[in-house]
Amino acid sequence: MSKFWSSIVHKLTPYVPGEQPKLDNLVKLNTNENPYGPSPKVIEALKAEAADSLRLYPDPNSDALKAAISQTHGAYGIASNQVFVGNGSDEVLAHVFQALLKHDLPLLFPDISYSFYPVYCGLYEISYETIPLNEQFEIQVDDYIERYNTKKCGGIIFPNPNAPTGIPLALAEIERLLKASTESVVVVDEAYVDFGTESAVSLINTYPNLLVTHTLSKARSLAGLRVGYALGNADLIQALTRVKDSFNSYPVDRFASAGAIASMQDMTYFNETCAKVIKTRDVLVRDLKTLGFKILPSGANFIFAKHATQNGEELTAKLRKKNIIVRHFKKPVRIADYLRITIGTDEQSVALISALNEIL
Ligand code: PMP
Repeated sequence: MSKFWSSIVHKLTPYVPGEQPKLDNLVKLNTNENPYGPSPKVIEALKAEAADSLRLYPDPNSDALKAAISQTHGAYGIASNQVFVGNGSDEVLAHVFQALLKHDLPLLFPDISYSFYPVYCGLYEISYETIPLNEQFEIQVDDYIERYNTKKCGGIIFPNPNAPTGIPLALAEIERLLKASTESVVVVDEAYVDFGTESAVSLINTYPNLLVTHTLSKARSLAGLRVGYALGNADLIQALTRVKDSFNSYPVDRFASAGAIASMQDMTYFNETCAKVIKTRDVLVRDLKTLGFKILPSGANFIFAKHATQNGEELTAKLRKKNIIVRHFKKPVRIADYLRITIGTDEQSVALISALNEIL
C-alpha cells in the first residue's frame, strides 16, 4: 500500500499464475504447457528473424499473422478482418473484457472457471455473477438462458473445455446459448480446445454475438512466445482493435509474429503433438483410476483428479517433495481435494504414477 497508488490499484486482487520454479529435474505438471517443443519450423523462423530488421518496429496490424490464422481456420471462412491478435490470449481476453464485456449489466461466468476472469472484472470495474456448475461440474446452458431471460446480462464468458475441470461443452449446447442470448456477446475461451473438444469457430459466421479466443501457448507449444488471438464478427474485432490501439500499438513483436506464422503453417507437427498428448492422457487416466482416483472427463491437456481417501493439498505437497509439481486450488471448497495435472510425456506419467504408488 502506498499513498501514491491510484484507488483502483488498492482494490485489485491480482491473478496468481502457476509456479515457474528455478529448479532442474522437476516433473512440471502445473501450468498446462506442452511437453513437446515447438515445431522445428518455428525455431528456423525465429533464427531467421534475429537480423538487422529488429531495429524496425513490427507491423502494428500483424497482417501476415492474421492471414496465416485466417488460412488455418479457412474451412470456416474466417477472413483476416475477423482475426485479432495479441500478446498471449490473456492480453486478448483483457481487451475483450474492456471492449465487449464491460456494460451496465453484470457479466456471467461459471463459479468454477479460469480465475483470471474475476481479476479482469476488478481491473475494469465490471460487475459479474457466477453461475454454478452442476454436481458433475458441468456447465448447464439452461441456467444461463434462464438468467438471461429473467434479468438480461452484460455478456457471457466460459472456457471450453472448462478450466480447471477440463470438461467439454457440446457444440449444440453452445449454439443453443447463442440463439437464446442474441443481445449479449458470448465469449468461448478455447485455450485447450485442440485436445479433443469441438471448436465453436464453425459458428462464427452464423452468430454475430460469438467471439472465440485461442492461444498458441498450449497445443502449439509456444507459451514462451506469448501469442493469442480472437475470432469473430468484424464489428467485434474492430472493438478489440480500438482498445489495442489505445493501449499498445505493437503487442506482437517480430519474433512472436514470425514464430506464430511458422507454427500456424505446420499443421502436421501440430496434429502429431496433439495426438501424442491425447494418447498419454488416456493412459494416465486409466492408471490413475487403478490407484483410486476419480477423474473428470477431459477434453484438455490436463485432467482434474481426486483421490478416494487423500486430502488434495497434502497429496500436492507430498508430490512436490518428490519433485513433481501439480496445481491445487484451495477454493472453492468443492474442488479442494482435486489436483489439476498437466499431461506431460509418457515418461513423466510413469514418474507420477510411481511417486503416487509410493505415497499411497
Ligand atoms: N484461458 C485459459 C482458460 C487459460 O487457462 C489460460 C492459461 N493460463 C489462458 C486463457 C491464457 O493463456 P495465454 O495467455 O498463455 O495465451
